[in-house]
Amino acid sequence: MALCYYPAVSTPSSSPVLRFAPSPNGRLHLGHAYSALLTWQAAARLGGTALLRIEDIDTERCKPEFTTAIETDLAWLGLSWPTPVMLQSERMDAYADAGNVLREQNLLYPCFCSRAEIAALATETDPDGAPLYPGTCRHLHRGEQIERLERGDPVQFRLDTQGAIERTGMLTFTVVGPLVTDRPQIRHARPQRWGDVVLQRKGTPTSYHLSVVVDDAAQAITHVTRGRDMEAATDIHVLLQTLLGLASPIYHFHRLILDDAGRKLAKSKGSPSLASLRDGGWTPDDVRQSLGL
Ligand code: GLU
Repeated sequence: MALCYYPAVSTPSSSPVLRFAPSPNGRLHLGHAYSALLTWQAAARLGGTALLRIEDIDTERCKPEFTTAIETDLAWLGLSWPTPVMLQSERMDAYADAGNVLREQNLLYPCFCSRAEIAALATETDPDGAPLYPGTCRHLHRGEQIERLERGDPVQFRLDTQGAIERTGMLTFTVVGPLVTDRPQIRHARPQRWGDVVLQRKGTPTSYHLSVVVDDAAQAITHVTRGRDMEAATDIHVLLQTLLGLASPIYHFHRLILDDAGRKLAKSKGSPSLASLRDGGWTPDDVRQSLGL
């Protein structure tokens, strides 16, 4: 089945395309500024284009006013991007199609476990430190699957990661350093360490992993610049790209901006927003200098 492609920004087919893909669930902080500035710098170095993509599949936490604020903050930093901007909330049909491609390969199965049940049964953790799904529903009888789906039990759809790996064989991805144009390195993907990840939920035919892979391909992204904290997720992205027949971009994983206590900046930890720094008199140059850019 063919995937839907976004009628997007036209760029010459051979030209590098990068993206900054924030979630509008709060204000941007210096960590986002670093990632964005680095992405635009890399695009300039490669003679390519940097796109903005809004990752707003979580309709409870994402708010349109944060999308507007993201655009204001990026413009204040002196960045510009082609329009229309892709909003993931408008792309559900494309994600549902991608899910169906996996379903047809028998690699997506319904899981009815609650968080508490998974936590109680898990014996390992995934690279993010969350309980590793122990595979409870992987071999549920078809009849029971149908009965529980028809009954309307809360459900998530998980990738049969081991089955997927058996299909694709060993996978690698290409990583480049901060100059982006420097010598590439090949890394082995280890998707098995994530177990059977959730790709779809009841009412939401996608998850972070699925949307990112579908949209990077739809936007013909050639280079993904993202923080080191997202490096491990690339294992799953490369697996999904292969299963869906999509090209893999080249990856650069940048350093993380830490607070005085050595913790990664985060909205949830009250890290100062770019807007509050701006209100306090910071200029875009102050931001660049503080980030060493
Ligand atoms: N939307 C993700 C975030 O805000 C980043 C997506 C990515 O770079 O793949 O953390």
